[in-house]
Amino acid sequence: CGIVGFIGKNVKIKHLINGLEKLEYRGYDSAGLSFIEDNNISIYKKEGKIKNLKEYVESILEKDIQNGIAHTRWATHGGVSDENSHPHTDQKKDIAIVHNGIIENFQILKKELIEKGHEFFSQTDTEVIAHLISENYSGNLFEAVYETKRRLEGTYALAVIHRLEPNKIIVARKGSPLVLANSKDFTMLASDITPLIKYTKYVNFLEDDEIAELNSEGYTIYDDNKKIIKRNEIHITWDE
Ligand code: GLU
Repeated sequence: CGIVGFIGKNVKIKHLINGLEKLEYRGYDSAGLSFIEDNNISIYKKEGKIKNLKEYVESILEKDIQNGIAHTRWATHGGVSDENSHPHTDQKKDIAIVHNGIIENFQILKKELIEKGHEFFSQTDTEVIAHLISENYSGNLFEAVYETKRRLEGTYALAVIHRLEPNKIIVARKGSPLVLANSKDFTMLASDITPLIKYTKYVNFLEDDEIAELNSEGYTIYDDNKKIIKRNEIHITWDE
């Protein structure tokens, strides 16, 4: 029901938790986060309140991370449980994704992936996206997400990281809100501006079918044909 992500030189786990707390008002039943460490994906997720997740990651709140994504879930497919909480990963644990929305054709995609030998860890519609990205991956996460999104029917705001491309977060949107922003310390994404305005007053709302690449320097937005979109940031005039 809400996603947030940070990439840059001064990112800590506490920034993700703080971002989730700002999104809390949207309602949720579980929460989780993921980051890359030594080319491995780490995932922490818990059913229940953000407080549960915060306690779970208490000892690493001050930990420096290069990038991280986080999620509050409002379950639509698959019950409320730790394993169905986001982030989700593929079977090789190369990828972590957070997703808001509903993948209408997930059953068809899941069947196809199972036939190819994929094993699933959860009952969610979201998990098929991670496996499909892994299936489409050949060294370039942007391309893999781009290919994957052509197969997805339904709604999504997505943020994706890959253990071998730690200086990157790929995001895509269709039917669920997503905002990007930049500050001197990091590049950020969120479902709405509330987690971002603490750090900057300039934001960019992604539009349907757009896909973007975030790195520590900033972000680049592309349309459905991979053409770069130049759009001025919007100036937010209210405070936190
Ligand atoms: N459909 C996904 C799930 O049930 C995402 C729900 C959401 O937007 O939080 O896990």
